[in-house]
Amino acid sequence: MEDSPIHDIFVVGGGINGCGIARDAAGRGYSVFLAEMNDLASGTSSGSTKLIHGGLRYLEHYEFRLVREALMEREVLWRNAPHIIWPLRFVLPYVKGLRPAWMLRLGLFIYDHIGGRKLLPPTRTLDMRRDPAGRPLKPIFAKAFEYSDGWVNDARLVALNARDAADRGARIHTRTEVEDARYEDGTWTVLVHDHVKDSHYEVKARLIVNAAGPWVDHVLSQALGRSNVHNVRLVQGSHIVVRRKFDDPRAYFFQNADGRIIFAIPYEEEFTLIGTTDQDYSGDPHDVKISDAEVDYLCAAASEYFVQPVKRSDIVWTYSAVRPLYDDGASKAQEATRDYVLRMESGTGPLINAFGGKITTYRRLSEAMLEKIGEMLGEKGKPWTANAPLPGGDFPATGYEAQVEKLKEAYPFLDLRHARRLVRLYGTRAQNLLGLAKSVADLGRHFGADLYEAEVRYLIASEWAMTAEDVLWRRTKRGLRLSPAEAQTLDEFMKGLGRRHSAAAE
Ligand SMILES: Cc1cc2nc3c(=O)[nH]c(=O)nc-3n(C[C@H](O)[C@H](O)[C@H](O)COP(=O)(O)OP(=O)(O)OC[C@H]3O[C@@H](n4cnc5c(N)ncnc54)[C@H](O)[C@@H]3O)c2cc1C
Repeated sequence: MEDSPIHDIFVVGGGINGCGIARDAAGRGYSVFLAEMNDLASGTSSGSTKLIHGGLRYLEHYEFRLVREALMEREVLWRNAPHIIWPLRFVLPYVKGLRPAWMLRLGLFIYDHIGGRKLLPPTRTLDMRRDPAGRPLKPIFAKAFEYSDGWVNDARLVALNARDAADRGARIHTRTEVEDARYEDGTWTVLVHDHVKDSHYEVKARLIVNAAGPWVDHVLSQALGRSNVHNVRLVQGSHIVVRRKFDDPRAYFFQNADGRIIFAIPYEEEFTLIGTTDQDYSGDPHDVKISDAEVDYLCAAASEYFVQPVKRSDIVWTYSAVRPLYDDGASKAQEATRDYVLRMESGTGPLINAFGGKITTYRRLSEAMLEKIGEMLGEKGKPWTANAPLPGGDFPATGYEAQVEKLKEAYPFLDLRHARRLVRLYGTRAQNLLGLAKSVADLGRHFGADLYEAEVRYLIASEWAMTAEDVLWRRTKRGLRLSPAEAQTLDEFMKGLGRRHSAAAE
């Protein structure tokens, strides 16, 4: 057995919800052990549309509680992580025959007024014949509304919550799968499988939090032996990434004739992200991938709006993920609630499940979970995460450019684009990564694009990265820029270092 102490809380799942809960709990003084069977954010939390948003569309389903809470979170999260979260303006063209202009205006009026907006600018109406946002679109779209929401680097939000949780004493174990859990004499004994060493060990805890996202029912039935489990509805959503379709820094919100909507968002400087779809899913969530029908749907929906159609041949990358929506019995996938539900499981030891939720509301979900934990284990600490920067986010919300300048002053050899990217990913911690480097040569081996050994070593040491995929597709998106041969070289380099070479793994 690796661990003799009895932890207060065992968290199953290293997605945004598991890591958010672990961070909040550790900060309140609980002892926490988190097990993630794969990499951090390898499930749904790296496959989102990456919006910190109220969810304008959810107003149509009268989800006022969710929308209000999510809107309020926009500025809270931006303030606490201004490197990986920033405001984004959305252009929503009015389309004759779809939602009437009064309905859009009313929705946006509610959006502007229920969400505690302080820094974000309000909605305005655009004449698309004059506004630059009209240029890449067909001339029939003469009028649009422009409103505020936010952008988030979803996978990094997870890694930073895990990092902060660990800095506050939580034990974070990736590639560690929960296979079984028994409750005896007031204590859980959880059997975990360490996939790196291919060995098993037991961990003891007083309470289990099941934050396994799309696997939440699987954990209940397989590891906890529950029968007739059906709490979440799995709904697939896919995105395509194409070469940049427009220069404008704003994103587009397109309504489709079928009542759904898609976004077209500036992405990683040279690209446009288009998504998403909504279709029921069955099977292992790790195997989810975009279907031909989804590609056709997204290309056709975007081509209704852009002058230059979006073609299959424009696609440089796709990704898909599965929403673990709480099953409220809605008939259509897009109508199922996006709200979260926390439920204590009866008939076992202390066990709380998290069903559903959004990236945007993860911090509030974590607070609600800590309230329930307090009821079961005895309260410790108070809510504290609303005013606590995430690692690297300890600079003013509007201070990104100043931060880039500071980094350039400290490391004049850095190319401006490189400096901007490092501040976007690591904020004030970019300096930890660059250390005493005085020249590009000091950054070590070059893997392609602007990815150097210093960054890879930092990600291994501080952020649980173990494979090239962890580095290229989750901690960074350098995968969009490295060739397959360069990615292979990185993979071999990391294997050579030894996967357990992670300080994060203690
Ligand atoms: C297409 C799409 C677009 C979205 N867009 C947005 C958006 O723009 N904004 C927004 O706010 N939200 C969005 N969401 C919702 C959001 O992404 C999810 O609600 C959120 O990521 C769920 O996080 P989670 O931690 O619950 O699940 P996950 O991220 O899936 O984490 C669960 C983790 O548990 C692990 N696990 C499972 N079983 C075990 C086990 N036995 N042992 C150990 N570990 C285990 C898994 O490997 C996984 O990493 C979107 C979702 C989808 C699918």
